[in-house]
Amino acid sequence: MNDMSGDYLLQVMKPARYIGEEWNVSRKDFAPCEVKFALCFPDLYEVGMSNLGVRIIYDILNKEPQVVCERFFAPASDMENILRSRQEEIPSLESKKPLKEFDIIGFSLGSELDYTNVLNIMDLGNIPLTSVSRDENWPLVVGAGPCALNPEPMHAFFDLFFIGEAEEAVLEFIGLYQKYKKRFKKGEVSKEELLLLFSGIEGFYAPSLYEVDYNQDGSIKQFKPKVKGALLKIRKRFVRDLNSAPFPCDWLVPYIQVIHDRVTVEVMRGCPNRCRFCQARSQYFPLRYREEKNVLKLASELIKRTGYEEISLTGLSVSDYPKIEELLGKLVAEFKARAIGISLPSVKAKTILGNVSGLIATIKKTGLTFAPEAGSQRLREILAKDFNEEEFFQALEEAYAFGYQHVKLYFMVGLPEEAESDLEAVIDFAARVSAARRKTNPGPAQVNVSVNTLIPKPHTPFQWLGMRDLDYQKQAQDLLKDKARRNRRIALSFHNRYMSFVEGILSRGDRKLSEVIHYAFKKGARFDAWSNYFSFDIWMAAFRDANIDPDFYLKTRQTDEILPWDFIDVGIDKEALKQEAEKVKKVLI
Ligand code: SF4
Repeated sequence: MNDMSGDYLLQVMKPARYIGEEWNVSRKDFAPCEVKFALCFPDLYEVGMSNLGVRIIYDILNKEPQVVCERFFAPASDMENILRSRQEEIPSLESKKPLKEFDIIGFSLGSELDYTNVLNIMDLGNIPLTSVSRDENWPLVVGAGPCALNPEPMHAFFDLFFIGEAEEAVLEFIGLYQKYKKRFKKGEVSKEELLLLFSGIEGFYAPSLYEVDYNQDGSIKQFKPKVKGALLKIRKRFVRDLNSAPFPCDWLVPYIQVIHDRVTVEVMRGCPNRCRFCQARSQYFPLRYREEKNVLKLASELIKRTGYEEISLTGLSVSDYPKIEELLGKLVAEFKARAIGISLPSVKAKTILGNVSGLIATIKKTGLTFAPEAGSQRLREILAKDFNEEEFFQALEEAYAFGYQHVKLYFMVGLPEEAESDLEAVIDFAARVSAARRKTNPGPAQVNVSVNTLIPKPHTPFQWLGMRDLDYQKQAQDLLKDKARRNRRIALSFHNRYMSFVEGILSRGDRKLSEVIHYAFKKGARFDAWSNYFSFDIWMAAFRDANIDPDFYLKTRQTDEILPWDFIDVGIDKEALKQEAEKVKKVLI
């Protein structure tokens, strides 16, 4: 479909997902550019346009005179049906070019539950799905983002993965491609030779250059390079100085509401805390801050160039940004008169202690979000969650006094050593949060409690733990529901446990799972991260067809076992993770 001006757009929901043409969009001449990069996000436009990484790479690449970068998002089912019924290929948003006219297809991999959408986008572009079936006449397919921390389940489909922060290496990668493009396309440099050259750039991993042997019990016996020169360890790349890293001030402004409909200033990367369940900490390790003067400058530029009325400060733990109060005070001073709101993600109590909530409340009274993760102090210690109840309730009362009425709390179930009393403690805690408002206001607060299931993820001290099975998760959810029923101020919501089950398998999986993902895609799995699309039956059928036991991937791992992701060096030593895991035992004694 290279002409989107036809009647297609009248037949789909939210046509603005497909038209491009946004404010600040790149308008480059496609043909003369030497390297054509398709930037693909395997979820809806509204989700992809809320991803800072996509915006950063788009901006960097389009600033290069010889490079054109255009976007592709996962089409919703109505658009997919139209494309398939008319046998049209998925077009880019900018110049409506088909995927196969690009040199490189780069996927941002933010969730394992987007994997079938990756295959769907390739399929809608008539791109052969497996790396082995694509020769020099096809684009190279590259994956990056958080899921690349364990790329093995998707190894069959990708030519390359990039581990780390893509802005650090993307131009080095493009430069190398530019150098070898002609010789590769003529067949003078083979694909294997080209991949080996790329794998010489720190952070790049070419799965086809490696092979894996398995033990009888299904665990990994050996992971080894197949060719000379392929490294045994792939080291994650990261931006050393956030202040000099590129940031997209020419912020694209969508025509429809997207998930994060505002400008975003990333104030930090990495996290000073060490929650044992947290993969994001490893993904964004080490800790780096953007200087206050740069945050202020970026905020000002972004507002000037977009017209948005909200600035969100983002980072893994914005509460830990040094002198956050001062920064907020300066932002409020600059933007208050223009009624521009400042928002923060989930905060720690210490951040709102003092007058910060007042500063925010003077502009926009958004709800408060906290993540205690567990109801009992005992479990919070096991998680190494930095959460001080006394400080929390003090800060909460202050916030209520400023007029806040709603609180959102995040918890997890399926934690190590979790007992019934720990689950009951979740609801008791929420009830105390609700009741605390009575001290300063006539009535209790509305508390929304969101409950996820713990997935012990790669590169965390919990990576050796087993994940609790579906029966346990149901029991835990039932217990919470039962206890919360008596308090109408508590609204409980659960992450779909079947989705968590599949996510757990895919995030902890090995190479054998490529077949399962392929089967699931062929059986119609799409948008698995959306509970209204997700089909557990399809996934179970895919496991059966591939003759793979899904429970294998959720069981406890031995600490001397080779894990599928061990070859990736995130900068945190495996021994250090083991020591952290050992500390859990000490908490229990
Ligand atoms: S859960 Fe949050 S606070 Fe804890 S380590 Fe991860 S990012 Fe940091």
